Amino acid sequence: MHSSDATGVRRVLILGGTGEARELAARLGDDAGVRVISSLAGRVRDPKRPEGEVRVGGFGGADGLAAWLREHAINVVVDATHPFAQVITANAVRACELAGVPLLVLRRPAWEAEPGWHLVDSMDAAAAALPGLGERIFLSTGRQGVGRFAHLDLRFLLRAVDPPEPPLPPHLTTLLARGPFTFGAEVALLREHRIDVLVTKNSGGPMTRAKLDAARELGVTVVMVQRPPEPRAPATSVDEAVRQLRHAG
Ligand code: NAP
Repeated sequence: MHSSDATGVRRVLILGGTGEARELAARLGDDAGVRVISSLAGRVRDPKRPEGEVRVGGFGGADGLAAWLREHAINVVVDATHPFAQVITANAVRACELAGVPLLVLRRPAWEAEPGWHLVDSMDAAAAALPGLGERIFLSTGRQGVGRFAHLDLRFLLRAVDPPEPPLPPHLTTLLARGPFTFGAEVALLREHRIDVLVTKNSGGPMTRAKLDAARELGVTVVMVQRPPEPRAPATSVDEAVRQLRHAG
């Protein structure tokens, strides 16, 4: 891990909000001479909290994050945020440059595209693709961005951790739930709501994969929102991130 302060303690800031970030915090928290601070945006009302020290809320852009890094004498930042959290990812790059702090990106691999998936580059493109594909749409894209579908006269089922805010589609059923979800439960859900199209982001990982297997089983059309580009090559597993952090010390 990178340089330490005068007391020999190495301070790691983990930008979190993912399972990988929580796992990394738990793993590094066991290392002697390492102080881990996990950061959450504060979007979810009752978040799963990482082990150890946690701070909640934005930093105030890249400049605010750079100032925070200096003030807290951070030695290394790990961006372990969700693949679609683009703003904080760009801010982390800029802030680490400004503060002269090394940055490691940890990102789970994307799901490999399957034949028949409709690949789109944004939620707007997903909305544009829907008319003609089906009538009953399962939105598993989270509550942020549901407004992109507000103009569509289709039946939507939204699954999210917290309730969405307007603007909302006129025909919307909201299911409040938090993964992971099993294959059997996903098949039952798609059947119950007679879903013909699933819209999802390519988050990757096993926790939310079952809906894709269920969609394949039932012949449900998949509209997959592709990931934004990464600013740099990421570590793709917690093991790899731990190894890189330990070796850099
Ligand atoms: P975003 O658009 O990239 O970031 C928006 C603003 O939220 C940032 O400018 C920053 O505010 C603050 N922020 C984001 N992540 C933060 C963190 N870990 N710690 C402190 N501040 C943070 O982010 P988002 O897509 O809304 O996602 C918010 C959080 O939810 C992230 O931590 C992400 O890992 C998690 N998450 C996102 C998704 C998704 O689909 N986007 C899914 C699951 C989990 P300031 O500029 O004031 O610093």
